[in-house]
Amino acid sequence: MTEHRCRALVVFCMDYRLNRQLASFLESEGLSHDGADIVRVAGAVKNLARPSHESVREFMLSQIQTGRRIHHIEKVYLVNHEDCGAYGPEDIPDTAQELEVHRRDLLAGKRLVERHFPGMTALPFFMWLDGRCQPIS
Ligand SMILES: [Zn+2]
Repeated sequence: MTEHRCRALVVFCMDYRLNRQLASFLESEGLSHDGADIVRVAGAVKNLARPSHESVREFMLSQIQTGRRIHHIEKVYLVNHEDCGAYGPEDIPDTAQELEVHRRDLLAGKRLVERHFPGMTALPFFMWLDGRCQPIS
């Protein structure tokens, strides 16, 4: 079997409203040509940080594990977005509070991924609906 490699895996929401913005983000990170594995699930990193059920978190980790095993990824981009339906009532229309909820989840997701996959780097980002994307620390 031919060996395939890509540099990264991106965890992102399924939301169709962000398709164009995701393409721009991949371009800006230099991931559109040599490619990245993309895992799109409603709520993105919420499924790692605060999953509805432990099996959901296990599923997310299994996707990253598969990317590592078959494509030798070394980085995982964790990208949540503004006005995410999967956050429901928590996604309050106050921008600062909304960002804080996502920041907590993104940093929890980073810790989880880096603990679970030694040597892997997790890069948390928050994307606004207009496509701006900011690193979270
Ligand atoms: Zn969403």
